[in-house]
Amino acid sequence: MTSTWVEPSNTAAALLLLGRGTDPDSERGVDCPGELPPPSDPNLVARATAAKAKLGQRVFVLGHHYQRDEVIQFADVTGDSFKLAREAAARPDAEYILFCGVHFMAESADILTSEKQRVILPDLAAGCSMADMAALPQVETAWELLEELGVAGSTVPVTYMNSSADIKGFVGRNGGVVCTSSNAERALRWAFERGQRVLFLPDQHLGRNTAVLEMGLDADDCVLYDPHKPGGGLTAQQLREAKMILWRGHCSVHGRFTLSSVNEVRMRVPGVNVLVHPECRYEVVTAADYVGSTEYIIKMIEAAPAGSAWAVGTELNLVRRLANAHPDKQIMFLDRAVCYCSTMNRIDLPHLVWALEELVAGRIVNQITVDPDTAHHARVALDQMLALP
Ligand code: SF4
Repeated sequence: MTSTWVEPSNTAAALLLLGRGTDPDSERGVDCPGELPPPSDPNLVARATAAKAKLGQRVFVLGHHYQRDEVIQFADVTGDSFKLAREAAARPDAEYILFCGVHFMAESADILTSEKQRVILPDLAAGCSMADMAALPQVETAWELLEELGVAGSTVPVTYMNSSADIKGFVGRNGGVVCTSSNAERALRWAFERGQRVLFLPDQHLGRNTAVLEMGLDADDCVLYDPHKPGGGLTAQQLREAKMILWRGHCSVHGRFTLSSVNEVRMRVPGVNVLVHPECRYEVVTAADYVGSTEYIIKMIEAAPAGSAWAVGTELNLVRRLANAHPDKQIMFLDRAVCYCSTMNRIDLPHLVWALEELVAGRIVNQITVDPDTAHHARVALDQMLALP
């Protein structure tokens, strides 16, 4: 069966959010400190190619799976956030690591690479709304509350890779571990061998899905800590009795899929396989046929038989790329509405060209650095993840 990719509804409002150069205010919040080439420049591809060739082995370009095609074509390697950070660490000869992803990923690359290497994020507006939902002062306040209740000593903090270096540092300082969507279960088992409860940051959905669906905990064992409410919106008894204290954070992309998205696609496409990321809500994950990380999703689609139908609940750039790479399979986006990661989409060809050409001119722009103390403790939590049984 052959299928043609059909772009979900590209409404004017959606395009406004995407920062595709159609919106003069799309860089609001963080100004580019230099002269960006106009998106209409027909020579952008040639300019990026020439600048990258001039830099040769001095630059290594990393491209996250959720990046635009126009950017991913220049990536030396593609992957999820953890794979990319490790790839950066495995290239000690590259002076410049140009990270086409979001801010927390560039921070992780800086932590894992040598002091000589410079990590560059082409657009500083490329943050992550999930990572931003857990700020260090908020997490410290929550921890102080656990200390006052006398339960901090029996609580192990676990943070998802998708968190700031500050949060990874906090977790490393307090005997915890970082996890990815591939090893969250192993990280939780490790944590429960060391404590009675886990403070899981910042993605409530990954925490709940792993605890309930993979560890066999009861939904009532999990409580939701809201950093915007006094005491997290929980009683002392709830905090003492909880096995999982879930931080109230979520991914703006994966959190959008609903049970009705799943039901609707099953009605529309009989026999469809529903494949989702564990950052999706509990009711979506339980209604899906397959659940796994970005790398898992890619492998599943690659291994799927010709003619099979797949509704994929993850970022749209990746789903579209998979659909185009596998025209013998029917691959569709799980939701009818457009759902790019707007911050991932901040990295576009003009920013990439600008960052590369500045390097050619001997100027390092948008360097991401993590202070040594934070980096040290974040590294402890990352190394602990690598040592998970
Ligand atoms: S897809 Fe979600 S978790 Fe990933 S960068 Fe975007 S907002 Fe953050």
